[in-house]
Amino acid sequence: MTVTLADILSAAAVLRGRADATPMVPSPHMETRYGQPFWLKLEMTQPIGAFKLRGALNAVAKLPEGISGVTCCSTGNHGRGVAFAARERGLRAVVCMSELVPKTKVDGIRAFGADVHIRGRSQDTALAESQRLSEEQGLAQISPFDDAHVIAGQGTIGLEMLAKQPDLDMLLVPLSGGGLAAGVAAAAKAINPSIRLVGVSMDRGAAMAASLEAGRPVEVEEVESLADSLGGGIGLDNELTFAMCRDLLDEVVLVSEEEVYRALQTLYYEDRLIAEGACVVGLAAVQTGKVTLTGPTATILTGRNLDMEVFTRVVTGRDVTLGDMTIEGRPYEP
Ligand SMILES: *Cc1c(COP(=O)(O)O)cnc(C)c1O
Repeated sequence: MTVTLADILSAAAVLRGRADATPMVPSPHMETRYGQPFWLKLEMTQPIGAFKLRGALNAVAKLPEGISGVTCCSTGNHGRGVAFAARERGLRAVVCMSELVPKTKVDGIRAFGADVHIRGRSQDTALAESQRLSEEQGLAQISPFDDAHVIAGQGTIGLEMLAKQPDLDMLLVPLSGGGLAAGVAAAAKAINPSIRLVGVSMDRGAAMAASLEAGRPVEVEEVESLADSLGGGIGLDNELTFAMCRDLLDEVVLVSEEEVYRALQTLYYEDRLIAEGACVVGLAAVQTGKVTLTGPTATILTGRNLDMEVFTRVVTGRDVTLGDMTIEGRPYEP
């Protein structure tokens, strides 16, 4: 089972006029500094503040008639997308999340009229709750990443990026469960087989990276991160994204919390943009020299549903404490 260009084109037809075709803007700073044109795809400007609206709208649109409601587990943004899409179709939505999910994200989901169930300290417990609701109440379950319609929805980002810049040499894609990377890679490689796809995760609790390394889906410990949207496992019974990421990603790169901190500052001071930690992992991969640019490159700024208090600390160069770890503050230096 996989997701093809035809599935992604079908998703694009569902999304037309509903999820915005977001701007892709140049980063003069990155181009000057690293010598190649560099593009930022502004998915944080979607109506829910993140790209996950695409997959959620496509998956909810493709549910059969007569369904009573939907449920999902989420690190925040998928829940927001599902809540939005369910409200649009007049369906009840129950979003299951762990205690690690920041309060702004919980509030955002409730604001779209969904019920929120908080369970445990990992995505796995949230997933178990969502499965229980699905079985007991007949709600349709929509995986945040391991669902063909979700992957196809996210893949429409790849279509738009290549339509805007057909000569892209490399795409840097934030990587968690891999729905985004799988969809974008499927679209981009179908259009231009020689494009390089690099997945980027944080170096603590990167489940897809650990799974690709092990050659099969494995579990990792979840920890708090500046890139909180990249937390969570890929599911030991992963059906789609593990194989697609294995087959379509050319490389996976990991960045540290300090590197995410610095990239958030760069995006703010140089590009004057505000985004979640999860979005800047691609910038961090370049800044640290872990990825070398060999032609026009683009990354996806995936969302902006961040904790503004943490963000303010980052841009003013103060310490940030995440669970048992403290990132030592330092002012931005170009
Ligand atoms: C979900 C999410 C990601 C990662 O997407 P996956 O499909 O799980 O790999 C990246 N950034 C943001 C803001 C997200 O919400």
